[in-house]
Amino acid sequence: MTWAATLAALEREGIRVRPVSAPWFPFSAITLGRTVLVQRDVVGTPRGAATLLHEAVHARDFARFGILLWLTYVLPFPVGPLSLRWLWELRAYRESLRALRELHGETRPADVAWAVRQFTGRGYLWMLPFPRLVRRLLVRAGPAPGSGGGARAAQR
Ligand SMILES: [Zn+2]
Repeated sequence: MTWAATLAALEREGIRVRPVSAPWFPFSAITLGRTVLVQRDVVGTPRGAATLLHEAVHARDFARFGILLWLTYVLPFPVGPLSLRWLWELRAYRESLRALRELHGETRPADVAWAVRQFTGRGYLWMLPFPRLVRRLLVRAGPAPGSGGGARAAQR
């Protein structure tokens, strides 16, 4: 997984990627419809590619669910699980963890902990503040953290 290959795949899907470095842009990345705005400092990096793959899930969901998805992000209330943001982010963070597993050859506990913090912390307004549940939902599809799920990568 490289930045260039990931960028090319997204562009083939009609997803535009626009690097941003500006004081008004506090996010690592954000998706608006079919456009991904990403911090310029991750452009060209494997971590940036993983970010693009996360945002691509949102871009596809925007195309599929439209206003439903918009509403869960633009309305200030409700916060917490009732906001339903966690439904979309669960799909996207599973893709983040898959990409990081490909990058590092295994599911690292630190990556899972990082993803869990996104759900349980202030950044997304405590969208699903139940760490054990989030961890179970996130790693359901992949091998357990630290289990060496990167055998495939190690064979390359
Ligand atoms: Zn996201």
